[in-house]
Amino acid sequence: MFINNLSEILDRQEIQILQDRFTRITGVASVITELDGTPFTGFSGICSFCSAIRNNPEGMKNCLRNNVNFNDMSSDRVSLLRCPATDLWETGVKIRVAGQHVGNWIIGQVKPEDFDPSVAAEFAFSLGMDRMWIQDAVSSIPEMKETDFTMILEILHLFANQLSSLAYRKYLLKKEIAEKNAISRQLNYLNFHDPETGLINRQLCEERIDHLIQVGLRTGKDSFSLIMISLAGIKHHKELYGPEGVKTIVSKLARVLMVSVRNEDTVCRFSTDEFLIVIENHDNSINSPEIVYERILHTLEAGVTLENSRVKIHIHGGMVSWNPSEKIESSQLVRKCYAALQESRKKDCPKLVVYTEDMFKAVMFEYELEKSFDKAIREEEIVPYFQPIVKLNEKNGSKVYGYEVLARWNHPRYGILMPGLFIPLAEQHDMLRELTAYIIRKGARFIKEINRENRDSPLFISINITPDEFIRQDLVNMIQKILQEEELPGHWIKLEITENSILKGGEDSIDKIRELNEMGIQISMDDFGTGYSNLSLLCRLPLNNLKLDKSLIMMAEENENFIQAVIRMADSLNLEIIAEGVEKQSQIDILKKMGCYLHQGFFYSLPMDAQTIKSAGLTSSSRELIH
Ligand code: C2E
Ligand code: CA
Ligand code: CA
Repeated sequence: MFINNLSEILDRQEIQILQDRFTRITGVASVITELDGTPFTGFSGICSFCSAIRNNPEGMKNCLRNNVNFNDMSSDRVSLLRCPATDLWETGVKIRVAGQHVGNWIIGQVKPEDFDPSVAAEFAFSLGMDRMWIQDAVSSIPEMKETDFTMILEILHLFANQLSSLAYRKYLLKKEIAEKNAISRQLNYLNFHDPETGLINRQLCEERIDHLIQVGLRTGKDSFSLIMISLAGIKHHKELYGPEGVKTIVSKLARVLMVSVRNEDTVCRFSTDEFLIVIENHDNSINSPEIVYERILHTLEAGVTLENSRVKIHIHGGMVSWNPSEKIESSQLVRKCYAALQESRKKDCPKLVVYTEDMFKAVMFEYELEKSFDKAIREEEIVPYFQPIVKLNEKNGSKVYGYEVLARWNHPRYGILMPGLFIPLAEQHDMLRELTAYIIRKGARFIKEINRENRDSPLFISINITPDEFIRQDLVNMIQKILQEEELPGHWIKLEITENSILKGGEDSIDKIRELNEMGIQISMDDFGTGYSNLSLLCRLPLNNLKLDKSLIMMAEENENFIQAVIRMADSLNLEIIAEGVEKQSQIDILKKMGCYLHQGFFYSLPMDAQTIKSAGLTSSSRELIH
């Protein structure tokens, strides 16, 4: 860090006190100066003669002339010097901080033993001073032996050391602040830029678009357009050239986009393989979005060299224009552009697709759901549905055994929405934990109420847990807390996990399942038979249930051998098997023949809300069901 002047590293008042103390102890005048001779402090102990000279403009020019010479001396030790104007002694020390010479501490106004009074007198006289006054003033200046003055110079060195350490502390502080500032500037940059391409990121770009909309609405002019471009076949590139190859392609594309627009336009890295361009005030000229896009396609024709071969870069593009009569949020406008890009992807053709309203509906629907999800839980628009799991007996009778809880969103505008639509949204927006807790709580209250009448053989509820939820550190605590608050015994709850949960959770899964088991909670392996069904893993896990996936049951006849094998294995592992998606009597017959008596499916009951389940009389564990 370079120091420009003393005030950057010294506190003037603090240093003045130090300097005054030096003069009080030694009786020698002193001052601290910048490298160019400008005093940084006020003079301490200045004699009346020198004071009068400094009060004169010509005299001032001559004062401290030696000081600047210090800077040229190779040694840090300054010898005794004679003032060229007054023949008085002066000397000093160079002030160094962190190796940099930053100023001088000058002392002097002392008569040497061989002092020639005529030099000072003639000089003062030439400045227009009175001879009598000069004589008096000069005679009152202290005289010193060279050894004494040298000794005082040594004392000055001690004082200067103290000053340097004060300055060094301030220097370190300043350096730390400068470094912190540099880091925060860097962070700030990273917050708004993509480090790989140097382009601005989505957040900053949306802020710019917001700004353009605000300005446009105010002025009534200044339209602009957005072009969203995506790199086609990124997966393919990754397979062929690896992540480094993809980086090269993306950088090349970023450069092409940059050179294809004017300086005032904005290019942003929107996601890994998507870019957003904002083109302002283009008035159908050579900078219209269509022409810019053509230019990009043309420039991309050259491709990029990777592993000694030419690689073509293919893109898709969508665009939307904004005019000042349209009141819209930037994120919504970007979504329109995104919808056009999606259309271009669907067509799989490099032509630029211009946005039209019909493209928007699908994207907008998703957007609206995303925005209202928070409220949906808060205002209980999310509703737990319950689908009975039934237990058959040897004859054709069956009784309710438990329920799987299936979430529904009773949306004020779109009606009942299925979980396949909103569970992924909740997961994307980090809200699944809230949803899971809500579903468990609602389920707990339902089963508690139902089991008041099923004291001898209580029913259970079975809750779906996604892999990401399952691997959360706080899952067990969260469930424990709800069970305590709702005063629900653990064995009234089952959790349905999938093989993916175990794959994601690794070895920790076993401990987690054990912890849950200790609370009385049973674990079901859901969707069994769809994934890659690792049987050895299944043997090691302390599971309680296996749910045969509905795709197997749908074609029960074709899958008879597999189902039979799974049932045998489950028996040997002491696992209960539940067949999902049972819709027909023929499926029931096959399942019963193979010894599978726990069923769930539309044949017995659709998933229904709590009230409907109660009105349909599906709440007793002892009453035979009539189908
Ligand atoms: P899943 O766990 O496999 O749930 C069973 C799905 O099969 C449910 O679909 C259910 O309505 C449907 N089903 C039941 N019987 C039959 C039948 O006889 N035939 C056919 N074709 N389908 C049947 P749903 O309710 O749409 O749920 C879909 C998935 O959403 C669930 O699959 C589950 O993975 C997830 N899900 C539902 N609720 C929640 C929840 O609260 N949290 C979590 N994390 N996931 C949930
Ligand atoms: Ca399930
Ligand atoms: Ca399932």
